[in-house]
Amino acid sequence: MKIDMAFVEELSGYRVGAPPRPTGGLSVDGAAIDAGVCAESKCENCGHQGMEYHPFIRDNSHSYRAFAVCPECGEAFEF
Ligand SMILES: [Zn+2]
Repeated sequence: MKIDMAFVEELSGYRVGAPPRPTGGLSVDGAAIDAGVCAESKCENCGHQGMEYHPFIRDNSHSYRAFAVCPECGEAFEF
């Protein structure tokens, strides 16, 4: 999947951003974990090691979507 106009269209209503950090001692910071997973991931398209973390959130539904984007070939993978 490439980041192009169709991709942006699909994400309309979302904005760039990670979900707010949870409060409370036992909560897991999912965004930090996802960012770490991205950094250690390999691009399935070109094999580049180290994906960029691109989180999007939609405020009204508290929807969260995260993408790993390859800085080398631009391929994006939702996870
Ligand atoms: Zn790639």
